[in-house]
Amino acid sequence: MSTYQSVNPATNEVIKTWPAHNDDYVESALEKAWQLYQSDWSKGDIQPRLQVLHKLADLIDSRVDELAKAASLEMGKLLKQSRGEVQLCARIARYYAENAERFLQPVPYPDVSGEAWVEYHPLGVLVAVEPWNFPYYQLMRVLAPNLAAGNPVLAKHAAIVPHCASLFEALVREAGAPEGAWTNLFISSDKVAELIADDRVQGAALTGSERAGSAVAQQAGKYLKKSTLELGGNDVFVVLDDCDLEEAVSQGVQARLSNAGQVCTAAKRFIVQRSVAERFLTKFTDAFKAMKLGDPLDESTTLGPLSSSSARDTLAEQVKDAIKHGATLHYGGETVSGPGCFYQPTILTGITRDNPAYFAEFFGPVAQIYVVDSDDDVVRLANDSHYGLGGAIFTGDTERGKRLASRIETGMVFINSASDTAPELPFGGIKRSGYGRELSDLGIKEFVNQKLVVIA
Ligand code: NDP
Repeated sequence: MSTYQSVNPATNEVIKTWPAHNDDYVESALEKAWQLYQSDWSKGDIQPRLQVLHKLADLIDSRVDELAKAASLEMGKLLKQSRGEVQLCARIARYYAENAERFLQPVPYPDVSGEAWVEYHPLGVLVAVEPWNFPYYQLMRVLAPNLAAGNPVLAKHAAIVPHCASLFEALVREAGAPEGAWTNLFISSDKVAELIADDRVQGAALTGSERAGSAVAQQAGKYLKKSTLELGGNDVFVVLDDCDLEEAVSQGVQARLSNAGQVCTAAKRFIVQRSVAERFLTKFTDAFKAMKLGDPLDESTTLGPLSSSSARDTLAEQVKDAIKHGATLHYGGETVSGPGCFYQPTILTGITRDNPAYFAEFFGPVAQIYVVDSDDDVVRLANDSHYGLGGAIFTGDTERGKRLASRIETGMVFINSASDTAPELPFGGIKRSGYGRELSDLGIKEFVNQKLVVIA
């Protein structure tokens, strides 16, 4: 049984514990979601659903500070970054409120024997399993398109962010969503498997680790349900010899250290061309040294704690192991003593292919630096990864950047910008980073019946 507990990772103080939901509660939630799916709410006019999303966007905009503080207290994100996350959630809700009707318009298909089109219908009740690193945004990526499409969602949030989970559920109800449209469940992984197996559920969306993704995908596969997975990444941040180095350093530091490095699309492997490598590393290290670790609620802090002591300990072990296998500790590498789950910003160099660190995702403020010569070397190293989520290329020559971008095997590549997310841009990866897309027009098409109708 999961324990749902808010612990402030900056102090390790327990804020509040939530009891797990019992079987009766879960059954009743599932039945309500199923009933809602059968109703006019899901299958009828889209306008009432879009009105809820408009209202939700306004509500979120009016409560940015309150919601941001709750996230920072519960998982350690800097307050400024929490505000940004909350505002992004409002934008996603508004984006689908304004565009979902257009996305779900029937699409005509040329057909020699008559008339043909594809129309879009909701698929049914979905299970969403979500992580703690963006405790509202991860939920909104699932809620907004699926509320618009008419799919009720049962949400199992990470055990360490129950306050955010509760606040989000309350907001959705306050915005006018009927019971069953979005239900937060404090349940264990076993219960998730039972839900996916239930005939009343038609799909599962997960963001999280490969382990969790594989478990949910296996269960969905066993019961022949649709699934989407947004898993880890080991994204490259490519610094070409012709780039604006100051810009690459400043964006690279943020891309690695934002959210204390706990971002699936964070820049994790820095691939730097030899002629600029020394200058890049000097400036990059200076920026790491200048980080001010501390309370995420203090506006002067520039690096907060990791989300939990287990996250911090896992990272510390990975760094030790990397060094044991021959990596050079260029900077950092220490757990910060005292209360809170702090870890120094860290830079590793000299990682060879036989080092476990080469293929590992470091989910925290640890940068790996690789020095290469040619553009072909960049591509070879970038693609030598089990993951395929995002990536960034910094160059003074956009055409060169475009050529490299098309050769990098990931779901997303950004030129002269760190990886980012926006409501209108599809988000997702390939290989062990998962499958399916969230956000944009593609996100709303994942869990709909794309039904062909033909008139002979
Ligand atoms: P998990 O994958 O364990 O947690 C994500 C969600 O999955 C949580 O809600 C978790 O529940 C749930 N979960 C875990 N196991 C199962 C299962 N067998 N069946 C159903 N649901 C399950 O991530 P962690 O918090 O442990 O982080 C570990 C690693 O995951 C990170 O180091 C990183 O590599 C990756 N990760 C990737 C993220 C991304 O944005 N892509 C976000 C967070 C993590 P519960 O909390 O109750 O265990």
